[in-house]
Amino acid sequence: MNAAPPVQEPPPSRKPDRKDFRDFLSTSDEQGGRRWLYPRKPRGRFYQRRICLSWLLLGILFAVPFIKINGNPMLMLNVVARRFSILGRIFWPQDMALLAIALLLYFTGIMIFTAAYGRLWCGWVCPQTLFMEMVFRRIEYGIEGDSRAQRALAAAPWTARKTGIKLAKHALFFGLSFVISNLLLAYVIGIDQLLAIVTDSPARHLEGLAYLLAFTGVFYAIFARFREQACTFICPYGRFQSTVLDENTVAVAYDYKRGEQRAGLARRQSPAQRRQDGKGDCVDCGCCVAVCPTGIDIRNGNQMECVNCTACIDACDGVMDKLRRPRGLIRYASLNGIERGEPFRFTPRMGVYAAVLSVLMGLFLFLVLTRPNVEATFLRAPGALFERTPDGNLVNLYTVQLVNKTSRPVPVQLRLEGIPGKISIMGDPALIVPGEQLAETSVLIELAPALLKNGPKKFDVGVYSQGRRLQTVHTTFIGPRD
Ligand code: SF4
Ligand code: SF4
Repeated sequence: MNAAPPVQEPPPSRKPDRKDFRDFLSTSDEQGGRRWLYPRKPRGRFYQRRICLSWLLLGILFAVPFIKINGNPMLMLNVVARRFSILGRIFWPQDMALLAIALLLYFTGIMIFTAAYGRLWCGWVCPQTLFMEMVFRRIEYGIEGDSRAQRALAAAPWTARKTGIKLAKHALFFGLSFVISNLLLAYVIGIDQLLAIVTDSPARHLEGLAYLLAFTGVFYAIFARFREQACTFICPYGRFQSTVLDENTVAVAYDYKRGEQRAGLARRQSPAQRRQDGKGDCVDCGCCVAVCPTGIDIRNGNQMECVNCTACIDACDGVMDKLRRPRGLIRYASLNGIERGEPFRFTPRMGVYAAVLSVLMGLFLFLVLTRPNVEATFLRAPGALFERTPDGNLVNLYTVQLVNKTSRPVPVQLRLEGIPGKISIMGDPALIVPGEQLAETSVLIELAPALLKNGPKKFDVGVYSQGRRLQTVHTTFIGPRD
């Protein structure tokens, strides 16, 4: 018989057998102050897979701002200038409906995914978890050591050694936060503008530098101090997931049927004797709690704080290996899977979500495929009324904005539709809208007064390019009241 695995005593508020776990936060003490967590470094097959995936995802995250398609960023979300580039295609504020549906698609997709597989996103893909657990935490393990060494260092008096270690760690954290801040800005303003800010004289980019430093401060605060609190208190997804999960959702779960009645391992007690004594496979070692980056005890059931990072699976599998018991006391499983041994099934609720997703997908494709290449906005010039020409006709002044969503220049002509009159572009009459640019011009429309005898006249203007109508815009012509 193997000896019991080494047990690290959890701090009092993290004792796994507390029944009032829903009444307190694992990260706060009785006075409401912050209880700092020192999660033990995970080891195991899931952790190794997460490391590999993290390297891949971080590589993609840092590479994407440098990738251009048709000369445009692969992904740029400039919310300040309201200019977006997705897969090299430029989207304008006029495409807001498209972006709104894309966001709805994204959130519906996440809902379906969460209903089926829980918070897989949080544990494996979320940038917060990637940076926190796979970059900052690993640097901390490298500099300060594992959980026990970190605790000892925190409790030790301030010596030159401790000051040096802390300074080195926080200097690295700050430098990394600066890099992440640059990365974020690259996604907002594009890599070209970011390089201009970084390489040019700082005096010429004070605003950009101020943003860089502000974001650096925010990231440093999150990764050095705030940590798991971001997932527990700030992330809306963590809160919302509890409304989506049900008994068929597959998530990181403790098999209480196999694990209970939990009890420490008695010397020379065989598994058969243990079962005869009514004891389960959980030896109450606390290893699953000791590795948890949010400080919870998964044996209490699914909890809002759990980011499904799988660290407790690895920890418990390690214990089961040592005890020569089957792995999977903590594993990916649904409540029905644990209670009744049911395999994963596609529930009616998931079916409804999937139907909504299909409708949104269809709408999105329709809008993308029918999206006009040139979009015109036709507005009467602000403050301008009407004028009379020497031959008695009436003239209104309009401001026209034309957005070219293609990468090539588009020559544009304007025609009155179904109404006699004259339309003339002020300035150069050969209106050419450069690729992926916005052109603005003024237009005069001249109509006979007889057309306005019933009040302001509503009519259409056709936007043409090389004889092909691109769009029809509706507008109004005003004249004298009598
Ligand atoms: S579930 Fe596994 S890791 Fe957690 S206390 Fe029980 S035996 Fe230990
Ligand atoms: S309970 Fe397990 S899966 Fe959930 S956050 Fe803690 S260690 Fe990760």
